[in-house]
Formats: sequence, C-alpha cells, structure tokens
Amino acid sequence: MRVLIKNVFVEGKRRDILIEENRIKEIGEVRREEDMEVIDGSNKIAIPGLINSHTHIPMTLFRGVADDLPLMEWLNNYIWPMEAKLNEKIVYCGTLLGCVEMIKTGTTTFNDMYFFLEGIAKAVDESGVRGVLAYGMIDLFDEDRREKELEKAEYYINYIKDLNNSRILPALGPHAPYTCSKELLKKAKDLAIKYNVPIHIHMNETLDEIKMVKEKTGMEPFLYLNSFNFFDNIKVIAAHCVHLTDEEIKIIKDKNINVSHNPISNLKLASGIAPIPKLLKENVNITLGTDGCGSNNNLNLFEEIKVSAILHKGYNLDPTLIKAEEAFKFATINGAKALGIDAGEIKEGKLADIVLINKNNPTLRPIENIRSHLVYSFNGFVDDVIIDGKIVMRDREIITLDEQKVYEMAEKAYDKLRE
Ligand SMILES: [Zn+2]
Repeated sequence: MRVLIKNVFVEGKRRDILIEENRIKEIGEVRREEDMEVIDGSNKIAIPGLINSHTHIPMTLFRGVADDLPLMEWLNNYIWPMEAKLNEKIVYCGTLLGCVEMIKTGTTTFNDMYFFLEGIAKAVDESGVRGVLAYGMIDLFDEDRREKELEKAEYYINYIKDLNNSRILPALGPHAPYTCSKELLKKAKDLAIKYNVPIHIHMNETLDEIKMVKEKTGMEPFLYLNSFNFFDNIKVIAAHCVHLTDEEIKIIKDKNINVSHNPISNLKLASGIAPIPKLLKENVNITLGTDGCGSNNNLNLFEEIKVSAILHKGYNLDPTLIKAEEAFKFATINGAKALGIDAGEIKEGKLADIVLINKNNPTLRPIENIRSHLVYSFNGFVDDVIIDGKIVMRDREIITLDEQKVYEMAEKAYDKLRE
C-alpha cells in the first residue's frame, strides 16, 4: 500500500507527498492512483517526525509521584523504591502509555535507556514508533555486578537484533561515569565496536556527581573517559552535559560527541543550565531529550523545543541566541544524525516519518510564520502520524493501539507500583 498526502503545506508550499514502502518516494505533484491510501492534507502542515534523544519511557508511570524535591531524596525515597517493583509487564504498560503520548505529540523516534527491554520492545513493536533501546548498566564499582550487567547488555543487543524489526535498534547504555567502573566503561566500548551500536550515557548532569568523579579519578568526567580513549571509534550520545569546562567542550568537539540537551529536566531537578550556545559555536551536534517523566513530567518534545529556544536567551541576556530554526533542527535532523537514522527531514529518499498538524488551531494563527509558531506557540498535539511509511495515527485517532485500553493498563500498572 502506498500513501499519498495530497495538497499539504511543506516548507510553506503546497505539495503532494508520495510514500512507497517505508520511504518518501516523491514530493511535488503526484497523480492519485488506485492502490494509494490518500490523506487530504489541504488543511494541514507536514513536518518531519520529532526525535527524542534521551528518555526512559516506562517512567511515564512515575509522572507526578514526587515533585519539588532534592534529587537524592527524589531518587532514594520515591523513584528507586518504585523501580524495585518493576517487571516486564509493568514496563510494557508504561511504554505503551509513553508511545500514546509520543504519537499524539508528534515524536516518531526515541532513544531510551532502561530495564526489562522485552517489555519496551513489545510496546514499540505494537505501537509502530521507532526506538533505539539500551539496557541501563550500573555496577557501582562491584565486579560481580559488572559482569552480570555486561552480559545482560550483550544479551539485549542480540535480543533486539533477532527481532528483525527495522524500527527497533539496539544501543549500549552504561548509565554514567559515577555509577559505572572504568572496566565496565571499557568493556561497553568494546561491545559498541563489536556490534556497531551507539553508546548512550549520562554525562555531567549535576555538580555533585562531577565532584564524585573528580575525587575518584582526579579528572572531570569527559577528561577521565578520554584518558582511556573511551570516545574513539564509537558513536556517543551524551545526555545532559550541564556543567562543562572548556577542556571538556574541546573533547566533545574533537570526538564528535552528540549532546542530548534536556533543559526541562535540568530545570526541574535544579541541575543547572547546559552551555548550549558555547557548544554550538564549536559546531557540536545538539539534540533534544525529555528525560523520563519523573523529572519532566511529559514527553511533549514541542515543550523542549520552546524551552531550548528561550532558556539560553534569558540566561545569557541575548535574544539572538538559539534561533527558532536552530531549535527545530535539534529535535529533527540533528537527532536523526546522532542516532544514525535516515530521517529528520521531509525529502525524497528519506524514511517516511512524517507528522501532520492541523492549521485550525489558535496557536498557529495568523498562519504566516509557521516555523516560529511551531517553536514558540504550538501546543504540541498533532493530527496524523506516519512512521516508517505506516499510518500510526489518523485525524487524532491512534490506529495501532487502543488508547482507552492503554490508559486502563497504565492505571493497573501504577497501582502495582504503589502497593
Ligand atoms: Zn536520564
């Protein structure tokens, strides 16, 4: 089945978009044929599907359970006790809820780090979204635990590869330099090379963790990892990067490390403000992540786009920083580049990950400066979502999942966590 989006606004012009299999075949004037499923785009705007470069999707179930607390109290008293009760089924339900939210708010790809990946992969498969999944490894410098974590990570890479679903890709997730030993990090790197998968890691999120790494190693986290060539010959997505020295910025630049900027999570947990304008000056690839719903508290990437565009203006007292166009790229083409996915723009030959937005929305009027509206004004709820050439949502109705059933399952899963 081919999909034809008729008369849709793409970059300010009315066009037809023809999708064949999972790619954009043609953009222009396309004649309707028998075997095409036609979407009337005359009242809609087409944008590339958004890409969330750092999250923990099953944490949708932790939304709102503990707000306005210091990080350690939040983790010790709320998040970790609830995470101890997780199982595959609960993670599956939380992921389904996350998938509903991502689809409704135009996110087509997410980069995840969590546990019980069978549950996550099952929900991703059923929902139709695209996911890069890493098992979050933490050894807390314990040798037994290290070996088990590495075994699990390798098991999950093979598990995901064996699913043979081009929408579900494996990655490696050593949690962070303050929770993982040097040996674990080195072996994770070896596995990344062996399987040719990216590494997804938390870096320099809080001043406290940086202090811990410095006390242990005498170096800032990026310098420490670079001292054993961690960043060489692999693709790395480094989440947060809030507190960086100039020397660390140089490493990020020289080693082509992709940064996942998570401004809302960093603000809510009072971690700080990442030096994004400085990184951009060095041509670092900046992408956007929501982080988990325990610290955001949603997966609506349009909010992240807006905050990333306004935060650095206010903080640096310079309204010219992070222009709308740039912030939008963070969540699209830059994310695709970081994850090695051939999407992130509406162009012939690219993967067909396309989102349609209804123009009948007060936040998009007057209709002229659409790119500005999408960054500074739009509420984020979209009309139609196509992922990998398949229609996943049509006129706000999700086709792949029973939305009501997902809510019921999520409530039951939440009750289990609160027992
Ligand atoms: Zn995180």
